[in-house]
Amino acid sequence: MDNVVVNAEPNAELVDVAIVGGGLVGASLALALAPTGLRTALIEGVAPDATAQPSFDDRTTALGNGTRRTFEALGLWSQIATQAAAIRRIHVSDAGRFGFARLDAAEHGIEAFGYVVTNRVLGAALQSRLRGLPDLRWRMPARCTAVSIGEQTGELQTEPESLPLRARLVIAADGANSRVREAAGLGADIEDYAQVALVAHVRATRAADGTAFERFTPSGPFAVLPLHDGAYGVVWTLAPAEAERVLQYTDAEYLAALQQAFGWRIGRLQTVGRRTAYPLRLSRAQTLVGRRVALIGNAAQGLHPVAGQGFNLGLRDAATLAELLAEVVSRQGAGADIGAPSVLEEFASRRHADRDGVTRFTDGLVKLFGDQRAGVPLLRDLGLLLFDLSPTAKQAMSRLSWGFAGRTPRLGRGLGVIP
Ligand SMILES: Cc1cc2nc3c(=O)[nH]c(=O)nc-3n(C[C@H](O)[C@H](O)[C@H](O)COP(=O)(O)OP(=O)(O)OC[C@H]3O[C@@H](n4cnc5c(N)ncnc54)[C@H](O)[C@@H]3O)c2cc1C
Repeated sequence: MDNVVVNAEPNAELVDVAIVGGGLVGASLALALAPTGLRTALIEGVAPDATAQPSFDDRTTALGNGTRRTFEALGLWSQIATQAAAIRRIHVSDAGRFGFARLDAAEHGIEAFGYVVTNRVLGAALQSRLRGLPDLRWRMPARCTAVSIGEQTGELQTEPESLPLRARLVIAADGANSRVREAAGLGADIEDYAQVALVAHVRATRAADGTAFERFTPSGPFAVLPLHDGAYGVVWTLAPAEAERVLQYTDAEYLAALQQAFGWRIGRLQTVGRRTAYPLRLSRAQTLVGRRVALIGNAAQGLHPVAGQGFNLGLRDAATLAELLAEVVSRQGAGADIGAPSVLEEFASRRHADRDGVTRFTDGLVKLFGDQRAGVPLLRDLGLLLFDLSPTAKQAMSRLSWGFAGRTPRLGRGLGVIP
């Protein structure tokens, strides 16, 4: 993608906000912006029903309580609820060792710690709501091929060929390898975890009953999550060479290996669906905003899935940005410069504590439980047991499902974006 600053193309389609990337986070932002009256364009490279749609694939996502509230406020939750499994209990253990901890939502006075849904269900719900927005300029499937940033606007070229788009504010929602981020000259720190997540759905003799299992092994953590139809979503993290080997297994070999690694807590594993591999790395943009550009979702930070935080955090990026733009419009009217530096700085400042906290927490978990140096596993087990006995620590964990720190956006409190 080019980042040459050129003279603005006279024949361009003018919008207020251009969102590049209509994955889970970009699509959520488009929906959240609808009540603001801002002219919004959404550019997504892959058709929503294509099996190759990277954001709406067969993965499952654990949605926190703040995300549920946001979806309720956006009018999405009723479409999702019937296919969501509530996480009522969490069981955390250190493979082959004595440390474990249990969390029970009822003890914290909440219905659930979160809800597990497949990305396809989320994608379909978002798409059907977006289709009902008459004013949304949708370019899909269309790839953004070039971005040029000027003083007052950003300009985007898209393919297949059509008029360029000119926007006061360009949003990078194009994932961890964000080309928009790169074109805007915003750097990112990337750390390869040298782990691969193997994702699959399995069935076992004991149907899922609302318990989520998080198990830490020397090769990485793995999660067994309840699904609404009684099956389980498994995210099994392995070293790359081992993941490659396990991917080649027959179903029977895979089930036997998983049974050995996970144990018998859900009974005998019986069937497994398609397996997909995701190499894991931490990517963190050095800054969230540049001239006329803001980063959200994985374009801003791509996390290890260990604590199921990536989408929840990205949705709070989108909710915060929509709320801020609504405030600016209500203060300054329809001609407000929503891409002005002061607005962008305010966005970065509102996101700082939550983003930093969740990123450090997730990265810290991966490293703590991957540490096999003498004495560390023992300390970890003691930590887990202390955690199991400490209501305060558990209360803090249960609050994570609302956000880590900083102000909760209005949508996350179940309110509309307009103050
Ligand atoms: C195994 C695994 C399990 C996970 N589990 C959880 C979980 O339980 N809870 C949780 O909160 N998070 C979880 N996550 C993280 C979550 O999946 C991501 O945070 C989320 O998908 C990020 O969404 P996004 O829209 O920012 O980016 P993406 O999903 O990467 O979407 C980017 C979109 O941009 C489009 N695009 C890219 N470039 C262009 C271009 N030039 N032009 C047009 N379109 C473009 C792509 O086609 C894509 O649709 C998990 C991740 C993994 C890998």
